[in-house]
Amino acid sequence: MSTPPYMHIPQFRSFVDMKDYDNIRQVFERNYIAEGPMGREFCDALTAITDAKHGVLASNGTLAIYLALKSLGIGPGDEVLVQDVSFIASANAIEMVGATPVFVDIPSPRDLTIDLDRIKLTPNTRAILIAHLFGTACSNTEDVVAYCKANDLFLIEDAAQALFITNGSQHCGTFGDVGTFSFYADKTITTAEGGYVCTNDDDVFERMTFLRNQGRKSSGTFVHPEIGYNFRMTDLQSALGLSQLSKIETIRAEKQRIAELYKKYLGDSVGYMTIREDFDYIPFRVIVFVPDASKTMEHMNTAGVEPRSMFYPFHRQPCYKHLGYRPEDFPNAEVCFETGICLPTWIGLTEEQIAFASERLLETL
Ligand SMILES: *Cc1c(COP(=O)(O)O)cnc(C)c1O
Repeated sequence: MSTPPYMHIPQFRSFVDMKDYDNIRQVFERNYIAEGPMGREFCDALTAITDAKHGVLASNGTLAIYLALKSLGIGPGDEVLVQDVSFIASANAIEMVGATPVFVDIPSPRDLTIDLDRIKLTPNTRAILIAHLFGTACSNTEDVVAYCKANDLFLIEDAAQALFITNGSQHCGTFGDVGTFSFYADKTITTAEGGYVCTNDDDVFERMTFLRNQGRKSSGTFVHPEIGYNFRMTDLQSALGLSQLSKIETIRAEKQRIAELYKKYLGDSVGYMTIREDFDYIPFRVIVFVPDASKTMEHMNTAGVEPRSMFYPFHRQPCYKHLGYRPEDFPNAEVCFETGICLPTWIGLTEEQIAFASERLLETL
């Protein structure tokens, strides 16, 4: 193949502007830069959005999952079932509380959730962790809820990529016992680094408030009734978060426009991930499936377009080699990885850029 035309299109660019900057300025003017009034306002805003009974901020999305698991009392000796395809933090937070992550295949190569039919319960199984990926809900959310109820398991929802995703009445992260969110630079809204945890359970909330702030209810005392740590977020970050929240309608509209444009240019030549019609969709990345993802990505890269691979399945991770999983037990995750591609999806991407990226992709089919 001759050298393709060139146009640099990065995988991601954060959507931050001078309006965000002005909001951070306020924090300097007030001279309260650690967690304080802005943090409370941001946390309350998130709890209003998720419509959960309680919420707390966390330093990032990984520690948000850790906080969720720890507050549920999950630890050494416990097993937590997790879908084999997600960002590594979904598995690592389980390992971090001392429990064992148990990987379960996805139901089909384009359906990114846990396959309930492949679960093997043991006397140590305590919980299921699902991840609502790429800006929509797990396709079998209600079934997972029912399964957890029937088998007396906790349900943790990693909703890092699912802020503002509801089915019209219920927000992702509130179907199970605890929901966790991330505000990393490429999430729907960002605070650079940051996280949030929500729950409807009073006791879990109580434990989270102690754990996140050195084992005490509030700062200013050196008496610590419990052992806790530091999962706080700064007001600098919360100010950014509040400003980002005010832009959500632009973010939603822009990301949906990008997904529609990819669909316009790629049509039926590629496959798409399973997306439920009854849930909101704010694409985190537009995901498409092609026969040979690595071949397609290589060609796109040569043309200046930066695609990204699908998540590397947990069962294949070098860091989890000691768990002894075999690829043949994860046929769907294998195909998902070999065929899935994350396309550049960021605010400001022009139709010309989307057409260019799509053309380069189509050249490989
Ligand atoms: C981003 C992300 C996390 C981790 O969040 P951080 O804030 O980066 O620690 C966890 N799970 C999923 C699905 C994510 O996308």
